[in-house]
Amino acid sequence: MCVTVATLSKLLVANGWIYDGCPKCNKKDDGEGSSLFCVECGNKSASTVAKFCVDVRVGQPNEYAIFTLWDRECYALIKETADEIKQKMINE
Ligand SMILES: [Zn+2]
Repeated sequence: MCVTVATLSKLLVANGWIYDGCPKCNKKDDGEGSSLFCVECGNKSASTVAKFCVDVRVGQPNEYAIFTLWDRECYALIKETADEIKQKMINE
């Protein structure tokens, strides 16, 4: 995959491909307000955590594939959690 970590990190921040998800199973929180009830795993945790969900295009302009990188993959590449990047964005 020809995506550098720096580029990916920049993309993440620029486009805000971070969602609030269930800390247990990573499902996106579709609920209203700040409370979470996860239909996926039944988690009633009061707060969500920031998770990555990034679409990455790999290949030539006319011949490419789109991959979705989920939280675990992004963390493996960037070595920072979505939550840490979110905090940095807030502090900047
Ligand atoms: Zn869940």
